[in-house]
Amino acid sequence: MKLKFWGVRGSLPSPSPTTVQFGGNTTCLQIIRDKGPTIIIDSGTGIRMLGESLMRNPGPPFDIKILVTHTHWDHIHGFPFFIPIYIPGGHIDVYGVGPIHQGVSFEKVMRDQMTYSYFPVENTMVDGVVHYHDFHEMFASRPSGVEGDYDLCEGVKLKLKLMNHPVYCVGYRIEADGKSIIFTGDHEPYYDAFAGQAGSDDEADADGTREFVDLMNQRFIDFCSGVDLLVIDTTYTEAEYFSAAKPHMSKKGWGHGYFEWSFDVAKKAGVKKLAFTHHDPTRSDIALFELEEKWRRIAKEQNVNFECFCAREGMEVDLDKPVVLPVRPQTAPVTVS
Ligand SMILES: [Zn+2]
Ligand SMILES: [Zn+2]
Repeated sequence: MKLKFWGVRGSLPSPSPTTVQFGGNTTCLQIIRDKGPTIIIDSGTGIRMLGESLMRNPGPPFDIKILVTHTHWDHIHGFPFFIPIYIPGGHIDVYGVGPIHQGVSFEKVMRDQMTYSYFPVENTMVDGVVHYHDFHEMFASRPSGVEGDYDLCEGVKLKLKLMNHPVYCVGYRIEADGKSIIFTGDHEPYYDAFAGQAGSDDEADADGTREFVDLMNQRFIDFCSGVDLLVIDTTYTEAEYFSAAKPHMSKKGWGHGYFEWSFDVAKKAGVKKLAFTHHDPTRSDIALFELEEKWRRIAKEQNVNFECFCAREGMEVDLDKPVVLPVRPQTAPVTVS
């Protein structure tokens, strides 16, 4: 089993002369196996190029399964441009969760982005090819809700876990061919939202909030335990996330993680490989190279048992081999005024 990145940017497509090395397309990953259906995670703008690639090889008719972590723009807005959905004779299963608190199904959210107000070609183009599956409905009778196990297809097992994000977001652990890959989708470490506010008692923690927060974070670490490749939302640095000097610029509560946290999770969970992804739209190639070098240096200094890297568009990760990274260009920094 291998993983290929087709889009690694978070929040917004960010094409620019300053992002050509790591890429500007939003989230899309492909699980590569020797057999079975094509498995894709998320349909950010990176899925457009994946669709073109699939048209060349293997070509139609298609058997595709798309796992959508959540329905924020950057994880679905490439879907209308995924060519295989317009090719008759194919079968494309699209899995995800809708915002049930609003009474809206996953299918409705996906179809709404292809209606008159947003898109010139209405949904009728894809009927009979695309089949939507809402985990909320599929797992309605489970006490654990959408969390739990699911057999995606022959030889491929999924473990689903809800993430901490301002909409229902499912992280996927994919187990196949004796290997495992996790993609978190968007995830922020759990924290006590009331800590530091007037009336709260940080020391005593009388209501047990801190214990609950620790438990939730431990459950996330348990989910990641021993995985061969952890691909984790690492939008910020710790300094950006907390923004101590300018608290009003803090990213707390925005639903994303940061490098220091991701690295710590990988250590505690004993992962084999760690990929930082969902790069902030403002993060340039230079900044990403520097962060990657920093964290690979720290990994070496701490003698950890995993290799870490920043995900880049077009990169293919073989779980059985060391990650090969391109040499950092020695050209003058690209700037855009
Ligand atoms: Zn996102
Ligand atoms: Zn999101």
